[in-house]
Amino acid sequence: MTNKLKTITLLALGLTTMNQAKSQELRKAAVHLAVQDQRIKIYTLVAPPEMFANTSHVIELAHELIVVDGQFFAPYAQQLKMLTDSLKKPVTRFYISHDHPDHYLGFGDAFPDVQVYALEETKQHIEKDGREVLKQRQEQFGGIIAKTLNVPAHAQKEGKEVIDGVTFIFERSLDNEDAVSLVIKIPEVKTYIAQDIVYNKIHLFISGNLDGWRKALRKIEHESEYKIILPGHGEPAGPSILKEDLEYLDFVDKTLAASKSKEEYKSKILAAYPDYGGEKLIDIYLAYYLKKDWKEK
Ligand SMILES: [Zn+2]
Repeated sequence: MTNKLKTITLLALGLTTMNQAKSQELRKAAVHLAVQDQRIKIYTLVAPPEMFANTSHVIELAHELIVVDGQFFAPYAQQLKMLTDSLKKPVTRFYISHDHPDHYLGFGDAFPDVQVYALEETKQHIEKDGREVLKQRQEQFGGIIAKTLNVPAHAQKEGKEVIDGVTFIFERSLDNEDAVSLVIKIPEVKTYIAQDIVYNKIHLFISGNLDGWRKALRKIEHESEYKIILPGHGEPAGPSILKEDLEYLDFVDKTLAASKSKEEYKSKILAAYPDYGGEKLIDIYLAYYLKKDWKEK
């Protein structure tokens, strides 16, 4: 399937979620204080589970704010803007962790002037496809999608950097939930910003071979000095979430092999994880991303 077709069909599916949300009026995102230390605080904004529970993290340093990820739906980016305004410090860097639209599409109107950073591959991908993706989403979803896109201007390199007196470690992670993603570690507060390598009680988005994803999760497990794990979907977590996600991926493999239809697969996943949010994510990846010969009929 071409990217364009993928996007359009994806939109059609997502529309139901949006219309339901509209008719009930959108629920607000939740804000968690994930880290509180002398020199650094991290606030995590999480969209409601029915809107995919995307996270944005606001890292508050002595004189400035750093934001990680910009939401899918514009109202949550506006809520994020209210949060950063309330802290009364400038946003000096706005990071995009990877090139999936649920992380870069939402914030263009709310943060038109921030300096956007991403890995070179992510920057190039958004430069190339971002405007088209935005246009398609606008046509389908209307006002819940931002009107403008803020494209990354800065390529973040891997390595250590001291920002406002705090050491950050930037790393490139390959072949996890996306082909390329940015990981940000802050050793001083034992915090690992993993984004979509980690989901917390939200159905993981499955699109292909899961071995690389498992490898990325085990790598975090081995870095056991990190006690706070910040997911791309769902609330801030501790290291036990890594095992939970690894078990979820094993369950997915097992269930995919044992299921004869998409319906059977989905019902088994829902039965095994009844308290997980983001059920719509299963429909989307089953319909358009996950390739499998279901042997139906
Ligand atoms: Zn995501």
